[in-house]
Amino acid sequence: MTRLRAAAACTSIALACSSGPTSPGPVAPVPAARFLSFQSARLAFRYTSIDASTIAQTASLVEAEIDRIPDDLGVTEMPTVTITLYPSIDSLRTAVTPLVGSIPSFASGLVTGADAVHILSPNLIERWAYRDGITSAIHEFAHCVSLRLNPTFGNQPRWLWESVALFEAGQYTDPRGLTYFTSGPLPTFAQLNSFDNTIIYDVGATFGRFIVDTRGWDTFRALIRANGDVSRVLGLSEAAFLNEWSSYVRTFFRVGVADSRPMTLVPATFEIA
Ligand SMILES: [Zn+2]
Repeated sequence: MTRLRAAAACTSIALACSSGPTSPGPVAPVPAARFLSFQSARLAFRYTSIDASTIAQTASLVEAEIDRIPDDLGVTEMPTVTITLYPSIDSLRTAVTPLVGSIPSFASGLVTGADAVHILSPNLIERWAYRDGITSAIHEFAHCVSLRLNPTFGNQPRWLWESVALFEAGQYTDPRGLTYFTSGPLPTFAQLNSFDNTIIYDVGATFGRFIVDTRGWDTFRALIRANGDVSRVLGLSEAAFLNEWSSYVRTFFRVGVADSRPMTLVPATFEIA
C-alpha cells in the first residue's frame, strides 16, 4: 500500500522526446559515476555502486508494476525500458541536459522516450527514502507506458501527463489538506500546465481517480489519446470538468467532514481505511 504522502515528496518531473527512437541511456560522460548493468525479466537497469546491494530488490519492486500499468492503459506491448539510477543530481543533469535541455530544480526523474527512464537513485538518502525512490521509478515507468499509447503525450498537456503517472504510482496528497478543495479557488488548466509551479503533483492522482471512477478506463485511455481534450472526449467545458472533479474529490475524500481516520490508497484498486 502507498500511504498518502506529503506534497513535497511528489517532485519528480518528466519530459519526453516524441521524435523517433531514443538511445537506451545517457550519452554524455558522467564524472565520477561508473555505471553497471543489471537485467531483470523485462527491464534493464544502469546503476552505480550506491545501488549495488539493492539493485535486485529495486528491479523486483518495479517489475511488480509492469504488467498492471500497461493493462490499465490498454498497452499490449512495451519495449524493454532502460532505467538509469543516478547517484547525484549533478550526474543526472550532466546526462540528460544534452537530451532535453535544462531541467527544473525540483526534478528527480524524467523520461526521454517510451523506453528510457532517468532517475535519482532510491538510495540517495539525502533526497528521499528508498520506498519513495521506488514509487518515483514506477511513476516514470507509467510515463513510458502512456507514451506508448500516445507518442505525442509528453507534457501535452502537462496536467493529464502527470496525472496519469501520479495516479498509477498511487502518489496521492490528502485533499483534506489542500485549499483547492477546502476553500478554493480551483486551479485552472493553464496553472496546472505551467512549469513555474508544482500544483499538479498535489492533485494529479485525483484527476486519474475521478476519470476512471466516473467514466471508466476506456474513457481514461481515450483522453490520453486525445491529449486531454475534455470537450471532445467528455463533452465538458474546462470549468464544468473542474467543478465535477472538485465535487467528486470533496465527496470521495470526505473533505470538510470531521473524520480522523487515516486514509490509505493504493494504485488502481484503492481503498480508504
Ligand atoms: Zn511525472
